[in-house]
Amino acid sequence: MMAAISAAECGASVTIYEKNEKPGKKLFITGKGRCNVTNTCETDAFFSNVCHNAKFLYSAVYGYDHDAVQDFFEQNGCLLKEERGGRVFPDSDHSSDIIRTLVNVLQKDHVQICYGAQVTEIGRKDGAVCSITVNHKQQIPVDAVIVCTGGLSYESTGSTGDGYLFAEAAGHTVTEKSPSLVPFTVSEPWCSSLQGLSLKNVSIRMERQGEKGGKKKKPVYEGFGEMLFTHFGVSGPLILTASTCYRAGEKMLLHLDLKPALSVEQLDKRVLRDFEEGLNKNFGNILGGLYPSKLIPVMTELSGIDPEKKVNDITKQERQKLVELTKDLTMTVTGTRGYNEAIITRGGVNVREINASTMESRLCRGLFFAGEVMDVDAVTGGYNLQIAWSTGHLAGVCAAQEETV
Ligand SMILES: Cc1cc2nc3c(=O)[nH]c(=O)nc-3n(C[C@H](O)[C@H](O)[C@H](O)COP(=O)(O)OP(=O)(O)OC[C@H]3O[C@@H](n4cnc5c(N)ncnc54)[C@H](O)[C@@H]3O)c2cc1C
Repeated sequence: MMAAISAAECGASVTIYEKNEKPGKKLFITGKGRCNVTNTCETDAFFSNVCHNAKFLYSAVYGYDHDAVQDFFEQNGCLLKEERGGRVFPDSDHSSDIIRTLVNVLQKDHVQICYGAQVTEIGRKDGAVCSITVNHKQQIPVDAVIVCTGGLSYESTGSTGDGYLFAEAAGHTVTEKSPSLVPFTVSEPWCSSLQGLSLKNVSIRMERQGEKGGKKKKPVYEGFGEMLFTHFGVSGPLILTASTCYRAGEKMLLHLDLKPALSVEQLDKRVLRDFEEGLNKNFGNILGGLYPSKLIPVMTELSGIDPEKKVNDITKQERQKLVELTKDLTMTVTGTRGYNEAIITRGGVNVREINASTMESRLCRGLFFAGEVMDVDAVTGGYNLQIAWSTGHLAGVCAAQEETV
């Protein structure tokens, strides 16, 4: 939609072919229905939140940054608001207002929208696009095509990976794809008993399981924030970010530090103080200050200390074990929840084969790409939509120059 608007505003005659019966099905579910439109961080900081091929995005994002996106929506009647961490949402908290604004501008700019229209082929002649085929039958001549078919996640929104096939047919390579910003499944049975428990201000370290060598393993990911236990494993912002560093099929160990603000020594002193205050109480009854109540049975069991044991009788080794466990509650990651629960697809059309200044294919004239179909992805916070707006805008402006009639 952004690509179409930008092309139309440069004077091109534009048609959107959308295979769904309505526009923006994925946009509708973004940000839990509130749509985190963009992020107000400095453009330099923006790139540090892009996981793959940030440099490729320089022209697109510098040329159409979060200010431009905010101006676009506000000037077209959709008020926005900024929340924690620079996240921008529609003031109404309804993603439908973002979609409505886009559709209104499309109408104003005389962009034709064909719904229920699946592009099934992109025709090429003499190294340039010449036509598209819709629903396997109708062939339509074109001067340029912008492929913005999205990735593979949440298939029901329309992202079924058609764009990768169009790219491959035109000679492009598509890098290995996998679900990203996705919850993890873990093997420890105690995890599911914590379902619904959300932990704030914890830190995690993720490392490959079974790596040889006596040296300390280099973590694949380290981070601090908020996570959630689910019936299958773990989720929440911290885990989703960690998943951007996970490769399908890998077994990873997730080390959870429940008290990252305290060193082992400080935590030991803290536990000792709690113990001294409840010397005659049962072990199972004095942990309320240390852990949320849902976690107490799990920590008790994993510590191996009988919950009925009097605190007075707990040995130094037992106490140290509890401290160790609190600083390193280890889980084994067995996989992810797949595309059905992934916010984005990692991998896509190889950006080396796309001109970063125009979004045009280097292999086929008049063929442009924008958004998630390309091998670009970022963490949560409004960055992925900003990538879509920026690359869509650039592709639209440049594709408009291809028009010959
Ligand atoms: C649950 C969820 C929440 C998210 N929340 C946020 C958020 O708050 N902020 C953020 O920045 N990002 C968020 N994202 C990511 C963001 O939605 C995507 O990165 C972004 O929508 C990608 O835009 P796109 O235009 O490339 O693809 P899409 O938005 O997926 O759009 C692709 C469109 O192409 C259509 N299409 C596909 N193939 C064909 C074909 N052959 N013919 C015709 N039409 C076709 C599809 O029907 C679809 O409408 C979220 C993603 C999910 C799944």
